Amino acid sequence: MRLYDTLTQQVRHFEPLEGKTVKMYTCGPTVYDYAHIGNFRTFVFYDLLRRWLRASGYKLDHVMNITDVDDKIIRNAVAQGKSLEEYTNAYTQAFLDDCATLRLERPERIARATAHIDEMAAAIHKLEDNGYTYRSDGSVYFRIARFAPYGKLSHNDFSQMVSGARVDVDEYEKADARDFALWKAPKPGEPAWDTEVGTGRPGWHIECSVMAIQYLGATLDIHAGGVDLIFPHHENEIAQSESLTGKEFARFWVHSEFLLVDGQKMSKSLGNFYTLRDLFGRGFTPESVRYLLASVPYKKGLNFTFDGLDSAKTAIDRLRNFKLRLSTAKFAAGTNESLENQAMNSVVAFCQAMDDDLNTAEALAAVFEYVREANTAMDTGEFRTGNITKTNDLLAYFDQVFDVLKASEPASGISEPEIDTLIAERADARKARDFARSDRIRDELLEKGIILEDTKDGVRWKRK
Ligand SMILES: [Zn+2]
Repeated sequence: MRLYDTLTQQVRHFEPLEGKTVKMYTCGPTVYDYAHIGNFRTFVFYDLLRRWLRASGYKLDHVMNITDVDDKIIRNAVAQGKSLEEYTNAYTQAFLDDCATLRLERPERIARATAHIDEMAAAIHKLEDNGYTYRSDGSVYFRIARFAPYGKLSHNDFSQMVSGARVDVDEYEKADARDFALWKAPKPGEPAWDTEVGTGRPGWHIECSVMAIQYLGATLDIHAGGVDLIFPHHENEIAQSESLTGKEFARFWVHSEFLLVDGQKMSKSLGNFYTLRDLFGRGFTPESVRYLLASVPYKKGLNFTFDGLDSAKTAIDRLRNFKLRLSTAKFAAGTNESLENQAMNSVVAFCQAMDDDLNTAEALAAVFEYVREANTAMDTGEFRTGNITKTNDLLAYFDQVFDVLKASEPASGISEPEIDTLIAERADARKARDFARSDRIRDELLEKGIILEDTKDGVRWKRK
């Protein structure tokens, strides 16, 4: 497998440092609001990376943080008169629920920043002892001039910077590169912790360094995030971590590109700011959202549109209908060798595309090309029973990564056993020539979003 590494600016062959286990750290959400689809592009990318690493034979040791203390959270919690915990618990749960709805695999460990304050203080203490910091008005700052490679990840030359200029906010632009706060002095009305480096709260950047090293060791195989995190967050993580351990912090830095909505940057003022809940409220399914976010390779900017969501639905329907046809239609005996070869070639093409820095667009093209050929062969009677296994293999490869073939059950939905029971009752009614009752059952199922199809091979059903 090859991955683009932001630090070396190269696509490089990836394998873990030790054995078959990939030590991976991904920056998680700051739980100050519902996560939006731009955030979820990055989280879907983590999921694809996880799934493809596992499909490639690796085990994962994946840590993701939940930032539950930072400038924005404190501002919002104070404004609403809530405790930090009360405020962040609700959004943390909403985030985990959204991830489950989108079928994102849960990292092996989810670490909350506020559960690691003492460890952060200990790390800051160590940096102080080793001369990487200075104090000002009760805050502790990292002196970036003490870390010569500062700028190596974002490929900026910061050597001409004024030493000693400071920045107190967690997020800032390249032009504002300054010594950044590791520990912030308490302000009236803000939450604060008593620790070995004093009373106050940690800066945002130190939390990821500390939790990554605590759970995964000095050197990670992969550190991932959105491109917006390259500077200053990941640059600062490198400065802190490598100053603490003297070792390379991450062997691969992998970043997913931006998401635009209708060609514009997403913003509340433009009215193009969507959470998952907004999209589900408009009738789009989790699978359509997942498919759209996964279908554009993570290194490319993604332009999010409602048309794109409609196309995602069409693509998923095509695959589901194909799978249904595969499992219910009657085929002649034997094997169509040419189609058999195409199925195997498609599996190879799918894997090669995913190995090539997760090129999901190419991987999908391989699947759809085969599905088109196989559908044509079914129409002309050239698809044979011997072709079923390899066809299923290809669909399985596809779905272990994309995971959209199974329909989500709507909250008020009907279960598969209930559907089967009603279909059996309808068959009995038809046998007894009670067509009124048979039609009532069909309508009842339709109301619950289940479409019946009477084919020459029997009754098939699918969700609307
Ligand atoms: Zn982080």
